[in-house]
Amino acid sequence: KAKDSGRNALRFYDVEMNTSVIEHLHLISGIRSALLKHEFKLYYQPQYHLKTGRIIGAEALIRWIHPEQGLIPPIRFIPVAERSGQIHEIGTWVINEACRQAKEWQNAGLSQLVVAINLSPIQFRRDDLEGDVMHALATAQLSASSIELELTESLLIAESSQISSLLSRLRLLGIRLSIDDFGTGYSNLGYLSRFEVERLKIDQSFVRRMMDNSNDQGIVRAIIEMAHSLKLEVVAEGVENSATLTRLIELGCEYGQGFHWSPALPAEQFFKFVKDYQILDGE
Ligand code: C2E
Ligand code: MG
Ligand code: MG
Ligand code: MG
Repeated sequence: KAKDSGRNALRFYDVEMNTSVIEHLHLISGIRSALLKHEFKLYYQPQYHLKTGRIIGAEALIRWIHPEQGLIPPIRFIPVAERSGQIHEIGTWVINEACRQAKEWQNAGLSQLVVAINLSPIQFRRDDLEGDVMHALATAQLSASSIELELTESLLIAESSQISSLLSRLRLLGIRLSIDDFGTGYSNLGYLSRFEVERLKIDQSFVRRMMDNSNDQGIVRAIIEMAHSLKLEVVAEGVENSATLTRLIELGCEYGQGFHWSPALPAEQFFKFVKDYQILDGE
């Protein structure tokens, strides 16, 4: 096929993306069409309060349901969308859809559930992010305290006064903020005390291995202690078994999510999962 030979003939590889330029362009037009054809979907992973075992929230995780290729994970298209600028349109859709879904679940009885939304640092480069969030909350008639925004360390270390004032305005509205993938980025922790962030999410790479690797467990323990001394709560990502859960409780970690309980599920399945869980739980 012409497309294949073209692909092989072109030998410029984008090292960072680990894809050829042709594949990259192909993806960009694929994303454009996915937006038009509504092929993106949010899946939801339950978040637990470890001591009580209660489900307190859901992290919204985007999937691309491709008509031929099936489910495409975010790692395959979010980095491309960040470079092409399409992350703005995707991100706005994610914010609206997550708020709409949160309201639907509240109406169906999950009144305490907080939905966590991942934000790319690129989305902060435009000044309409705050307006997008307020508009989504207003449209869904959802209270600000029902959502949490997951930020990355790279956003916070930039030390931009615009970002810091935007974040404090979001906090004033009552929106919760957390730092995602904590531990993978930067070692300068000074920024932590400058922002009104509520929770740190320890990256799954440390949590997953913590029962087999004492260095990883040491990192997890240190992050929990540091977070607590700064009055931040901790979410452990990547809890895959009960031994890890037990240890995290001993270490004082407040929250967790991971395959030990459930992967991210389509909204309908998530709702059913929570309902069944609550019945088992005797709630
Ligand atoms: P993240 O925000 O750190 O999300 C956690 C990732 O860990 C998810 O991968 C989740 O499915 C996976 N995970 C959860 N529990 C476990 C576990 O026990 N073991 C293992 N091995 N993995 C677990 P996913 O859904 O593929 O998302 C990957 C990344 O893509 C996310 O990392 C986030 O950075 C990004 N992403 C996802 N949805 C969005 C979105 O709507 N907007 C933006 N900007 N980024 C998103
Ligand atoms: Mg996240
Ligand atoms: Mg994470
Ligand atoms: Mg991650």
